[in-house]
Amino acid sequence: MRRFPEPIQNAVASFARLPGVGPKTALRFVYYLLKIPRHDLEVMARSIITLADRIRTCENCFTYCETPVCDICRDNRRDTSMVCVVEEPRDIATIESTGAYRGQYHVLGGVLNPIDGMTPDVLRVRELTERVRNDESMREVILALSPTMQGESTMMYLTKQLSSLGRRVTRLARGLPIGASLEYADEITLGDAMKGRRDA
Ligand SMILES: [Zn+2]
Repeated sequence: MRRFPEPIQNAVASFARLPGVGPKTALRFVYYLLKIPRHDLEVMARSIITLADRIRTCENCFTYCETPVCDICRDNRRDTSMVCVVEEPRDIATIESTGAYRGQYHVLGGVLNPIDGMTPDVLRVRELTERVRNDESMREVILALSPTMQGESTMMYLTKQLSSLGRRVTRLARGLPIGASLEYADEITLGDAMKGRRDA
């Protein structure tokens, strides 16, 4: 890259860390930001810092929230007999939008991928098994990970880890596009996959 003034280089380096953004796109962002009013830049910068100041993870399910325990975990109208294991907090929003599920959630924090350092101790596997073991009312664990290669091997691993706890372990029905992330499933397909779940 041609030599840019240092503030531009620094901003490009920051944006290039975002998923799906390379140096070229990062530079486009920076040129755009240089054109907008200073006030808009401040609003944007503040909204980013506020994430670090106000967002934390739920003590129970590990989704993002502003309180120690999230809205779903605090909602006593939710079914406590089932817990749905997802990769990331965004998957909760996707499943909630189907309206096909009224139970609890557990955010794993990714899927197993030892080459990238995603080992069982990095994911919240121990937290999951502890939670299921300690909660007598929990009868079913639904594995709702993406049907990718890593997602599949993670579901196999979790099924084995949970097998001794005497609960039903299920996974979403087939019909989700193989190899695709749950993020891109449409509501109807995902809702059907939830209703038609089967033993893992
Ligand atoms: Zn929660």
